[in-house]
Amino acid sequence: VVGVLAVVGRPNVGKSTLVNRILGRRVAVVEDTPGVTRDRVSYDAEWSGTHFKLVDTGGWETGVEGMDSAIASQAQIAVGLADAVVLVVDAQVGVTNTDSRMVSMLRQSGKPIILAVNKIDGSSEEYLTADFWKLGLGEPYGISAMHGRGIGELLDVAIKTL
Ligand code: GDP
Ligand code: MG
Repeated sequence: VVGVLAVVGRPNVGKSTLVNRILGRRVAVVEDTPGVTRDRVSYDAEWSGTHFKLVDTGGWETGVEGMDSAIASQAQIAVGLADAVVLVVDAQVGVTNTDSRMVSMLRQSGKPIILAVNKIDGSSEEYLTADFWKLGLGEPYGISAMHGRGIGELLDVAIKTL
């Protein structure tokens, strides 16, 4: 095991769907209801012969009124224990204030951050990734966790940071 990769992001952006896609099986719980992943859950994952730990987290609603602080702190614990972080955002929603706040908090961790713009279900939607450059994390990687688009490229980059 070369390291720990934590998957973080707002509720409902597709973190658990991405984790299942990487694992090649349905283990993480995917729900239409935001915030379903209550705890951080760690899995043994493998990509191109590299073994690593993959951590699914609950939604991380920083500074949001009425947020479930237990979920947020689980996400922060996950980042603290991780060697690198995949920040998942939702292409169909665009950049939100919560995304920006999360970037600030993640930056403070000093960990490498890979930006995955999820729900790019077809090439005609690839242009939606452009807006996410403004998060200042470098190249936004367009993916579709649901359909498996762009996952290989994302993992190639993520693994190198471990
Ligand atoms: P989480 O709360 O971040 O873990 O999000 P989930 O993985 O539970 O997914 C939330 C919702 O987004 C579910 O209805 C998923 O089916 C949907 N979803 C996840 N990935 C994709 C994707 O690539 N494309 C589309 N269109 N929907 C997705
Ligand atoms: Mg989840």
